[in-house]
Formats: sequence, C-alpha cells, structure tokens
Amino acid sequence: MRRGFGRRFVVMAGVRATLVLPAATLATRALATIQATGATLTHEGATTELALATGEAPRFSLFTLANPPRVVIDLPGLAWAGGEPPAGAGLVRGVRVGLNRPGVTRVVLDLARPVAVARAEIAGTGRGATLLIALNPASQSIFLRQTAGNDQAQAVQEAAARPPPPPPRVPLVMIDPGHGGRDPGAIGARRTHEKHITLSAAAELRRVLERGGKVRVAMTRTRDVFVPLPDRVRAAQKAGADLFVSIHADALDDRSVRGASVYTLSERASDPLAERVARNENGADRFAGPAFADVSPEAAQILISLVRRDTLNGSARMARATVANLSREVPMLPNSHRFAGFMVLKAPDIPSVLVEMGFISNRTDEALLRRPEHRRVLAAAMGRAIEGWFGEVGAIQTAG
Ligand SMILES: [Zn+2]
Repeated sequence: MRRGFGRRFVVMAGVRATLVLPAATLATRALATIQATGATLTHEGATTELALATGEAPRFSLFTLANPPRVVIDLPGLAWAGGEPPAGAGLVRGVRVGLNRPGVTRVVLDLARPVAVARAEIAGTGRGATLLIALNPASQSIFLRQTAGNDQAQAVQEAAARPPPPPPRVPLVMIDPGHGGRDPGAIGARRTHEKHITLSAAAELRRVLERGGKVRVAMTRTRDVFVPLPDRVRAAQKAGADLFVSIHADALDDRSVRGASVYTLSERASDPLAERVARNENGADRFAGPAFADVSPEAAQILISLVRRDTLNGSARMARATVANLSREVPMLPNSHRFAGFMVLKAPDIPSVLVEMGFISNRTDEALLRRPEHRRVLAAAMGRAIEGWFGEVGAIQTAG
C-alpha cells in the first residue's frame, strides 16, 4: 500500500515537471526521433554492462566525472520511453535518466567504485540497435586520468552539441518620406514642394544608415507617388519594422517661423501649433479621394488606447535622441519635441516619430532644405539618432 502510494507520487511529480516546462517538452518531442525502449544492467565476472535498446542507432557522447564518480552518456535526438531505469548492479550503484537540455537525454551511471570504460558502442543495426556500455574495475588514478581527459573532451562535445546562436537580427527602420504624387505637401516661399524635399532627405538618410550597416532600411515610397497615410503605417507593420521615421517639412503663414522639430503621437496636441501641424499632415489624405474615409474620433480613441505604453516610451526616447542630434546641427523650434495626433504615428506596436526638418515657408529654411549639403547634415544627425536609439534598445534588452 505504502509502496503503491510512493510510486504514484513519483508519477505525479513527473507530470508536474512536464507542466512546468511545456516549451522544453515540446522541443524534446520535436527533436527526438529515436526512442529508447528499455535498459538492462548486468554484472558478470568483473564487468558491468549497460544495454540500452534504442530501435535505431543513436548518436551518443560518453564521459566520466569524479566526486562522486559517475559515467555520463548524452543522447541527442533520443527520447526516453524505457520506463523506470534499471536498479544498480555490480560496479554501478544506480542509473538515472533525465533531460539534460531540450532534445538531449542524459543517462547517468552512479558508480560504486572507480572504473574504466571498456566498451562503448552500438551493437546490432536497424531497429535492433543497442547501445552497449561495459565497465571494468580500475584504480582511482586511471579513473581520474580518464576524467581529466574527458573534461576537455566534454567541453568540446558540449560546444559541438550546442546549436549555434541564431545570427543577430538586424533591426529594420521604415523611413516615410511625407506626401508624394498628387499630394505636394506644404509649398514653400519659392514654390518648393515639400514632397520633393522629403523624398531627397529620406534617400540621403537611407544612404547614411546603409553605410553604417547597423540597421536595415525600407521606405514607404521611393518615387513621386501618392501613398495614403494608413498604407504607410501598414507597410511598416507588414515589413516588421522596429522603428518608423516620417520625414516632413512644414509651412506656416507666419514666414518668420523656422527651425526643426520632432513629433510623437498624443491624443491631445501639446500646443496649438502642434495641433495645426498634425491637421495639415493628416489632411494629406484628402488627396486620396472620397473612397478613403477619415478616421472617426471614436476609432482614433480606440487606436490611441491600443498604443502600448512601451511603444510610446520608445517613441519618446527616439524623439529626444533626434532632437539632441539635430540641435547640434540646425536651428530648432522652441519645445522641439512636440505631441500631436498624427495618423502616420499610430502603429500601436512600432515606435514612431515624425521629423519636421524646418519650415519651407521661411526663406532661410527653404533655401537650406533645397541644398543637398544641408540635407546630408540633417540625414547624418537623424542617422546618429536612429543608430543610438537601437544601441540603447539593444542594451536594454540585453540587460533584461
Ligand atoms: Zn508634411
């Protein structure tokens, strides 16, 4: 009665371990192609022999360990279906079977005394394959020499058995040149179209980032074509972008206003200017024609509530990095990091910023934005901000 209860407890413990480690269990099932159906341990003369019936010939590695003395057999791709391991016999006090790591079954022979491994090989072929391990008594010094030799061998074997780490994923930045096609964006004092400035600056930023080699780059448009705002967000999501950077240049009736600024998403605009800028940029979709329905306030509310806090935090960090880098190179608007409800910033899972590189309604800013050298300076600053942001994100993830 007592024994029956004890046995049941062992089974229960096994079940609980399975529940606690579902991922490891699944991995084992996926990797294990061979099943060990039973093991016997026999002692004859001076030799103790373990016979492991495996159906097919398994790969295995064997090594010995001291303190306490034991023989360890690792079997990658082998699942244990042999029930209770055999009781100890001869030179072996006991046999333990467990999962060493996902997909690798480990058999441990706890030794009654120092041994020499006399034989470790597969006997039989095909479905009749058996792994045979024969042990003979040996002096402590022979056992220890074997162990010392195995420490190195084990390290090599374990390194070889470990799957190579996956190549680090190179993050993807989606650069979004504002406007395009029938939507010219803002029009400058000298009739400069915002859509041309944004495309040129975006192409320069792409070159900067590709030269740096730390990130991959995709663009929502590479030509003078109209792309509706929701399609820009969808493109970023479809591509699995890690960061979304929308590039614009603004215009105001007050032609004295100049300087760059960076926007992140907010339900409420940080100030009347931010609200007006967002209205202008969102208005780009009036060019999409009547087929495109504007987002209702309710839908906008839901979209915003979907925006995860860490996405917003990531966006805010990116905005600060961009402001910091731009402000070293070009004049900035006061309160350079602003908040407004830009449609292109509404991907709930992708940190997103919108960079207004300056005001093309201001003659000085317009003249600068038309110059490739100035756009190179802007692109270099944005590139540093982007690479810095990913460096920081990487550091945070590694620390976590
Ligand atoms: Zn714009």
